[in-house]
Amino acid sequence: MDWTDEDPMAERRVEDGGEGPVRPGVRECPFPKLHPSQLNRDDVFFMSLAYNQAIEAWREDEVPVGAVVVYEGQVVASAHNQVLGSGDATAHAEMIAITQASRAIGDWRLNGATLYVTKEPCPMCSGAAIMARLGRLVYAFQDPRMGCLGGATNLNALPDAWHHVEVCSGVLEDECRSLVQAFFSMKRRENK
Ligand code: ZN
Repeated sequence: MDWTDEDPMAERRVEDGGEGPVRPGVRECPFPKLHPSQLNRDDVFFMSLAYNQAIEAWREDEVPVGAVVVYEGQVVASAHNQVLGSGDATAHAEMIAITQASRAIGDWRLNGATLYVTKEPCPMCSGAAIMARLGRLVYAFQDPRMGCLGGATNLNALPDAWHHVEVCSGVLEDECRSLVQAFFSMKRRENK
């Protein structure tokens, strides 16, 4: 199978025409999307796709957090934060991506899947990753305030839990943190 048929980001890249003009009514993001080499489909590659999703969130005026899920080497889910647009506090990138991945795989158990997310998951999303029996989770930067996979606390350390997720952090850490910090500085300037 040609993976480009399965990769939701591939279509989006064509749509965007690379770094094409921003659509009307869409907020411009000062950070360009990443174009990682497709020859090296490692953690940095997949986190770059999550980063590009975070830029999509910025363009919709949402806190720029993005996520992708990879299963058997294919991207099966690709989502960004949509809390504002959907008026739903549960519409975090990870929650949407977990739902998409379960549909794509045809199983609520995601043991064989890896979720890449640009920020350490909150209590809700860390819990969802464990409840979904997610195999592996890679996040970019730690959230000392709300992160629940090591930042503020660690739900993965519940001693009697049925499942523990393999966690890896620090992939594209500076890039993903700068995006969120710049977004909040912009918001602070606007609200002055
Ligand atoms: Zn969350």
